[in-house]
Amino acid sequence: MAASRPDCLFCKIVTGEVPAEIVRKGERTVAFRDINPQAPTHILVIPREHYADAGEAARAGAGIVDDIARDSHEVAVAEGIADTGYRLVFNTGAGAGQTIFHVHGHLLGGRGLEWPPG
Ligand code: 5GP
Ligand code: ZN
Repeated sequence: MAASRPDCLFCKIVTGEVPAEIVRKGERTVAFRDINPQAPTHILVIPREHYADAGEAARAGAGIVDDIARDSHEVAVAEGIADTGYRLVFNTGAGAGQTIFHVHGHLLGGRGLEWPPG
């Protein structure tokens, strides 16, 4: 089990120490609205446990990335974006734009999403 990090913003959102607009609390994940949304629906889905990024989470072999994908789909259905289409993105590493090093899936939808992204 990956311990919570006292210096991690997203660990603090999991514990409630930092407020967030939470849309789903699951056994293994928490989903909340991004503070700077890039689409009409922009939700971050994170594991309760701390892993730095998607690679570290996947290598832990605990099904964390599966949890995020499954729970993101459930949130997409609840938000009404599952039928029109949504994107689930893991920025992994600073070079890919990752700024918070607690793994999170960006669930984006509610508008047309170009491919490839910028
Ligand atoms: P990254 O750049 O690491 O892939 O994504 C981090 C995301 O966290 C960004 O989209 C950013 O807007 C969001 N974010 C940063 N600080 C906070 C915060 O305090 N609360 C919420 N809800 N989102 C945050
Ligand atoms: Zn954390």
